[in-house]
This record gives sequence, structure tokens and C-alpha cells, in this order.
Amino acid sequence: MTKRVYNFYAGPATLPLSALKKAQKELLDFKGTGMSLMEISHRSKEYAEVHTGASDLVRELMKIPDDYKILWLQGGASTQFYMIPLNLQQEGKPMEYVNTGAWSKKAIKEGGFFGDVKVVASSEDKNFSYIPKNIQFGDNAAFAHITANNTIYGTEFHNWPKVPAEVPLACDMSSNIMDKVVDPKQFGVIYAGAQKNIGPSGVTLVIVREDLLERVPENTPAMQKWKTHAAKDSLFNTGPCWAIYMCKLSLEHLKGLGGVNGIEKINREKAKLIYDLIDKSDGFFKGHAEVDSRSLMNVTFNLPTPELEEKCVKEAAQNGLIGLKGHRSVGGMRASIYNAMQIEGVQSLVNFLNKFQEDNQ
Ligand code: PMP
Repeated sequence: MTKRVYNFYAGPATLPLSALKKAQKELLDFKGTGMSLMEISHRSKEYAEVHTGASDLVRELMKIPDDYKILWLQGGASTQFYMIPLNLQQEGKPMEYVNTGAWSKKAIKEGGFFGDVKVVASSEDKNFSYIPKNIQFGDNAAFAHITANNTIYGTEFHNWPKVPAEVPLACDMSSNIMDKVVDPKQFGVIYAGAQKNIGPSGVTLVIVREDLLERVPENTPAMQKWKTHAAKDSLFNTGPCWAIYMCKLSLEHLKGLGGVNGIEKINREKAKLIYDLIDKSDGFFKGHAEVDSRSLMNVTFNLPTPELEEKCVKEAAQNGLIGLKGHRSVGGMRASIYNAMQIEGVQSLVNFLNKFQEDNQ
């Protein structure tokens, strides 16, 4: 068998081995068709099963109520940064955002093209090392927007902010969708680029409450309206069939682990292993995120010097632990331990880091 490493990249990221193997097995002849899924019409009955199967799994795993639509779109989460204001804006009402990092900022900037944007809370004063508390959204907002997990900084919302009843909450869950149990009814819109926690790049999952589909101005281009895609069950045009298929396989794997409930327990154990190491290292490893804002998915930390950081990343790679260099805005190291990262991978990283500290302090 080909050698596999432990892959800690922030995204695209590691996928479940069982999903990759199944795709490999079905690559040349999908279910007896004599064709690859990549070669089959998106209107075929074989693909229809994949498409519906993927959506059904999202609905089942996240317990999505019937009055929400599940959409598979293209253009990445970055496209939703403008589709959200475009689809949810309301004359004379501000669009309210929380700024918890680079991805929030990009969403805020796109919102600004559509009208009045208000940033109601920010953690920029401390290089986004925490999630603001006591966030207050206005009653008159067209929508509220948060980034659930800040991939670059390693911070995550553990309690959702209160939002006035009439204001839909839009949430970027690109780097933590399905990492823990969430009540979807708290959100008007949930969106996530698939390439971190549920599949490969090329598809974006959007979960939107039906009543919100009606807000968009009629004269909006068809592809930019959620309503268009909802009406055609994400088959308005040729979608990213292969990426949706890979999402289905990866969600089947997740279901086998006990669904979101099951993975939440594993994710908490995985994160604890690394945070405990950081906390017990006498300051050799220093976490970027404040303790109550720590992410379950992206663990960010620094070493005493940039030289040691570089050495650590390099030696980790020599030991089959790949993708640990931190993002330039935080520096240091980042271990992305998404749903598909097995606990053995995290244990192996922790053993390596322990040894690295012994050898280098
Ligand atoms: N939001 C978050 C939280 C992200 O981590 C990323 C990608 N790293 C994006 C949005 C942008 O996603 P995409 O590349 O799919 O546009």
C-alpha cells in the first residue's frame, strides 16, 4: 500500500481513508455503468442517487429541519461573502458583522458593496486571539454574520451570540462544520467550503431557511440567487458532481463514527491532547488563542524563536507529520485536526512535540 502521512494542512485537508479507497474502487466503473462518475450526466439516475444521498446525509447528521434547503454551490465560501448580502439585504437596514479575523474581514468588505455595514464586535485589538463576549446585534439589522471558527488564528465560538428574533444569523462554518453538535434552528444561513471538514475543494455547502429565499431582488442574475438553486435542488446548472460524491463518501464515514455526536467526543479528545501539551510545556509552546476561545479544529501555537519553529516544522515533516507551518499572520505552527484526522495522528504529533521540546530547550 502507498505510504500515507498525517496531514495537518488547513485546507484542502485530510480525507477519511475509507472515502478515498471507495472512490478509488469506483473510479473506472461507477456501479456497473462502465464509466467513471466524472463521465456521467448530472441528470443520470446514478448521479441522482449520489446527489440526494449527500443532501440526505447532511440533513440527517446535522438534524436540519424541513424548512431549510440544502444547496451545493460553486465559487467557494468566498462567493457566499457576497451572496449573503445580495440575498439578504433589506432597504434601510444595516448588515451587522462580528470581526474575528481575516475571513470575517473579507465577508465585511463584500457586504460593504451592498449597503450599510456595521461591525458590532471585534477581536482585532489582540490579533484575533479571542472571541468577543456580550455581542449585541441591533433589532433593525437585515442580518447578523459571524465566522464560527477562525482557521488562521485558531479561535472558535463555543456559545452562539444572542440575535434578535427577526434577525437571521448567517454563519461561516467553513472550518468547523459538523465538528460538534449545533442546533441549526439558531441560524438563518450556514455555509461552508467543503475542503476542510466534509470533502474536497470545489463545492460549498449552503443551508438556508426557506423564507429567506424570497428576499432577493428579482432582477438579480440567476446564478447569484439561492432561490434559483433551491428551486432546482442544486441542479440548475452542471454542478461539481465529483466533489459532491466525495462529500457523500466522507459523510458516510462520519455517520459510521456515530455522526456529529460521535465525532464531537473524538474532536474534544484530540484537541485536549495538544492543548494539554501546550499548557504543560512551561511556556516552550505558547498557544495563540485565549483558553476559552480555543478551536477544536485549528490549534495555533508558537515556539520560543522563529528558528526553532522552522526547525520543528521541518523535523515534523521528516517524521511524516505534514502541513504544520502556521499562517503568516500568526506565525509559528498550526495543527489542523479536522474530523478526518484520526486520534492516532494527533497522538503521534504530541509525541513528536514532546521529544522536540526535550531535545531543544
Ligand atoms: N472562511 C473560512 C473560515 C476559511 O477558513 C476559508 C478558507 N480558508 C474561507 C472562508 C474561504 O473559503 P474558500 O476558499 O472556499 O472561498
